[in-house]
Amino acid sequence: MTQTQNSPAQTTSAQPIPASTTALRHDWTLQEIEAILQLPFNDLLFRAQTLHRLHHNANEVQISSLLSIKTGACAEDCGYCSQSAKHNTNIERERLLPLSEVIEKAQIARNNGSSRFCMGAAWRNPTDKNLEKVIEMVQAVKDTGMETCVTLGMLSQAQSQRLKEAGLDYYNHNLDTSPEFYGNVITTRTFQDRLDTLQHVRDSGINVCSGGILGMGEKAIDRASMLQQLANMAQHPQSVPINMLVQIEGTPLYGSEGIDGIEFVRSIGAARILMPHSQVRLSAGRHEMSDEMQALCFFAGANSIFYGDKLLTTDNCETNDDLALFDRLGITPSKVDSSRAEAGKAHSA
Ligand code: SF4
Repeated sequence: MTQTQNSPAQTTSAQPIPASTTALRHDWTLQEIEAILQLPFNDLLFRAQTLHRLHHNANEVQISSLLSIKTGACAEDCGYCSQSAKHNTNIERERLLPLSEVIEKAQIARNNGSSRFCMGAAWRNPTDKNLEKVIEMVQAVKDTGMETCVTLGMLSQAQSQRLKEAGLDYYNHNLDTSPEFYGNVITTRTFQDRLDTLQHVRDSGINVCSGGILGMGEKAIDRASMLQQLANMAQHPQSVPINMLVQIEGTPLYGSEGIDGIEFVRSIGAARILMPHSQVRLSAGRHEMSDEMQALCFFAGANSIFYGDKLLTTDNCETNDDLALFDRLGITPSKVDSSRAEAGKAHSA
C-alpha cells in the first residue's frame, strides 16, 4: 500500500484513499506500521477517518458494559492488575457472583443503552465446573437481547467449543503489549499462550476481542509491534480494545512512564487503518482523558466504549458524562437489536 511506504516528509495530505488501497491486509511489516504511527498528525487522522467512514457509521459508537463476576486472588502476575494475588493491592476479593446478581446488573446495563455485556473473571483459566456456571450467565444475558462477551483467562479448544455452543458472541483475551516487551509485564504465562487461546476462540467461531494496554513504559516500536501482531492475525479481531494504563498503587507498573495523549490518539488511528472493519474500543483509562482527547479518539476511528462507572475494579466515566459528551459530539449509541431480545426469549422458553 503506497500510503504506508511514504516517509513522513514525503507524505501528501488530504487525498482520498483509492478503493484499491483499502483491501484488508494481514502482512503488515513493522516498518510500515511505524511509518503510519509517525505520519503528520493530520494525515494520520484523515486516513483513519476516511477508512472509518468506508466501513462504519461515523457518528455511531457501540456501548459495552463490563462486570467483574469473580474478583481478585488471580494466580497470574500481570503487572498492571489489581487482582493478582501476587500484588499488594487493596482489592476486595469476591467469589463468583450469583446468577441473580448478574441478571440484575445486565438489565441495568441494557436499560442504560449497552448493546454488549462483558463479564470478567480473575482466573488463570476456568475449570470446567466454573465454565458451566458462566454459561448459565451467558444464556441469561442473551435473554436480555444484548450481545455477550466473557474474559476468563486461557481456554482450551474444548472449552471454546462449549462456549460457542452456548451462544457466546465474543471472547476477550488481550495481547496486552508487544512480544518484545511482554516479559516486562507478565511472567506467569507466555505470549504464545495468549495466541493459542485466541486461536482456539477463533477456530470455534466465536468473535475475538483482543487489544492491548498503552503507557506501561513500552516504546513506540512496541506499540507498532503489538498492532502488527493484531493486524496480521489470519482474521482481524472483531473487537480491538485499546487501553491506557490505569496506574494502581501496589502493582509493579505503578509509576510507569505513561503515554503522551497525542501518541495514544495516533495508536487509535493506526489501529483503525490496519484493521478497518474492526470495532476499536476506547477502554480503560478513558476517565483520565479530557473530553477533547476522547473526541480526537472518536475522530481517529474509535467506535466503541465501555460504559458504567466501573471497569472491573477501576473507575470509569460517569454514565451521565458520557451521554453529555455524546450529545455535544452528535454521537448516537448503536442500537440494541430488539430482534435479539425476541430470539433470546424464544431460546429461554
Ligand atoms: S489481568 Fe486477568 S489474568 Fe492478569 S492478573 Fe488480572 S485478573 Fe489475572
